[in-house]
Amino acid sequence: MSKFWSPFVKDLVPYVPGEQPKLSKLVKLNTNENPYGPSPKAIVAMQAELNDNLRLYPDPNGERLKQAVADYYGVQTNQVFVGNGSDEVLAHAFHGLFQHGKPLLFPDVTYSFYPVYCGLYGIEPQSVPLDEQFRIRVEDYARPNGGIIFPNPNAPTGCLLPLEAIERLLQGSPDSVVLVDEAYIDFGGETAISLVDKYPNLLVTQTLSKSRSLAGLRVGIAVGHPDLIEALERIKNSFNSYPLDRMAIAGAAAAFEDRAYFEQTCQQVIDSRERLTAGLQALGFEVLPSAANFVFARHPAKDAADLAANLREQGVIVRHFRQERIAQFLRITIGTAEQNQALLEALQSL
Ligand SMILES: *Cc1c(COP(=O)(O)O)cnc(C)c1O
Repeated sequence: MSKFWSPFVKDLVPYVPGEQPKLSKLVKLNTNENPYGPSPKAIVAMQAELNDNLRLYPDPNGERLKQAVADYYGVQTNQVFVGNGSDEVLAHAFHGLFQHGKPLLFPDVTYSFYPVYCGLYGIEPQSVPLDEQFRIRVEDYARPNGGIIFPNPNAPTGCLLPLEAIERLLQGSPDSVVLVDEAYIDFGGETAISLVDKYPNLLVTQTLSKSRSLAGLRVGIAVGHPDLIEALERIKNSFNSYPLDRMAIAGAAAAFEDRAYFEQTCQQVIDSRERLTAGLQALGFEVLPSAANFVFARHPAKDAADLAANLREQGVIVRHFRQERIAQFLRITIGTAEQNQALLEALQSL
């Protein structure tokens, strides 16, 4: 704290990201990064941008990337927004679409950035408990709200809400924006982007950090009605005109264009998830059904915080949350076959 801080900064409660260790030989299964590299075509596209043109500003609109996303999903470019990671896209949505003097609804167990953005933008958070199996109950969201947000599949549980339930949610709150954060949708869910023409209150965000293995590049997108996109553009153009640099625009567009690599690596992660789930169950873990690139698991006889600490001593890092309802769970990112094996062997020894 310093006398130079504004009262607002003093009261901020920032997000705490998962550890990014300096040691490289750790088996890193804590922040849901993709174990496979990005598309080789994305790397080539980014390398092609490393030249004298870097003296010039990038396209403020990221048109090349918007076009690649629009082609991929069969929408118009004015239905697409692009930003510096989906966290930035989410921030603009909070700022531009959720400040209505009414509470923002989200599950009690969910992505912990949502309450942080509520604090940053002065929005009242209202958490809605998941059911006993950690599933979203759509009926519970039919109440006055200034917006609804949840990840699908949810984080850190991995549980998927079917599209039919998302439609009921949209119909139940036609006068507020429903934001579906699809950070993990490519690992087993069906995107709600097919619904954006039918529901003008639906905004879908996605990230290239997980299924397209570009966490280090920082690119996220949103798809929705042009009016919602325009709100995000107005915020963005009042904040930073150039959130995506030349490498990011080119690399992200090439990643969307390389469908074959994307589909192959997603399938590998899905197959590994099923094997890891079976391996954890064989060790006595209860594993929630996951449609994501991680699993959420608890052991009936072992304390989760102890397990996480012991794993770390053996060079395997997973994520543990102190929050009451999930304090006995570990969130484990799906790694390569070797990494998953290392995790199972470390657990075995405990
Ligand atoms: C990883 C993640 C994000 C953020 O992705 P970035 O594009 O890397 O900022 C957003 N929402 C959820 C639920 C995530 O897990």
